[in-house]
Amino acid sequence: MQNNYIVDGHCDSLINYVENDRTLNDPSEGGQWDLQRARQSGVALQFLAAFIQTKYKPNRSLQRGLQLIDGAHRFIAKYSDRVFLVQSKTDLEQLPDPARLGILLSVEGGEILGEDLFMVDIIFKLGVRALGLTWNQRNALAAGVGETHTQLDLTQLGRQVVQRMNQLGMLVDVSHLNEAGFWQVLEVSKDPIAATHSCAMALCQHPRNLTDQQLRALGRHKGVVGVNFYPRFLKESGVATRADVVRHISHIAEVAGVETVGLGSDFDGIEETPEGLGQVGDYHYLREDLLKTGFSSREVEQIMGRNFMRLLSDVLK
Ligand SMILES: [Zn+2]
Repeated sequence: MQNNYIVDGHCDSLINYVENDRTLNDPSEGGQWDLQRARQSGVALQFLAAFIQTKYKPNRSLQRGLQLIDGAHRFIAKYSDRVFLVQSKTDLEQLPDPARLGILLSVEGGEILGEDLFMVDIIFKLGVRALGLTWNQRNALAAGVGETHTQLDLTQLGRQVVQRMNQLGMLVDVSHLNEAGFWQVLEVSKDPIAATHSCAMALCQHPRNLTDQQLRALGRHKGVVGVNFYPRFLKESGVATRADVVRHISHIAEVAGVETVGLGSDFDGIEETPEGLGQVGDYHYLREDLLKTGFSSREVEQIMGRNFMRLLSDVLK
């Protein structure tokens, strides 16, 4: 566990918890992610996303975001002997903690801020340490990859949000952001950034994936890409296996450097999974595959967790 720990940059399991569908502790309830299997797998830090679904936008985005954040705090309190909220560099230094899994609370969708910069400080005070500026749509900060007809830039508010996040020590997440916004975030942000759950466009033409040029730029800026396990991002046929996850990892390592690659499973946010990597208990197979592919054990450690840990220690205060 000491070296072979895992950091997962994205899962959507919180929605199940808030809807009372699952406790997120018991594997027998189904689902792709739960505490028991995550701990057995060696997950040291899990990003738990408050994903604001389209049906709540625009009017109920804040309420839904707060409901999910509250759910995260209830989950952490209920299992406080086994999980804790990671909010600072000091918290990060506790990881990997053999007794407790770290949770990094993220919000997926800048809609939670409405049009108010002060909301960044409020979600920070609520324990949020990463924010995806957009989902696929446009909001007051920027435009998502679903806005295909325009090349909308970051708005002035979007720029201010990035700067405020830098000051507070919050990770800017560009997964789902359109390309114009991506380049501007890199320009504005003084801290490295992440694409917490994205894959390589060169291997699968999908608007959610990143071009080699974007991957290289992320690497130059000491950012990290969490490779997403969604088959439609891995392969154009929409049917994928664990080998395809390895292909994307290898490609990003080749183009942007091995220190740029991480994992962003998207568990419980994807209705299909790659064959052989269907749930959080399957990570050991991925580790074996990476070693067989020719990555050194040190590189595998970087990919599975250390790169994200290094990024967070660069960003959190
Ligand atoms: Zn997402």
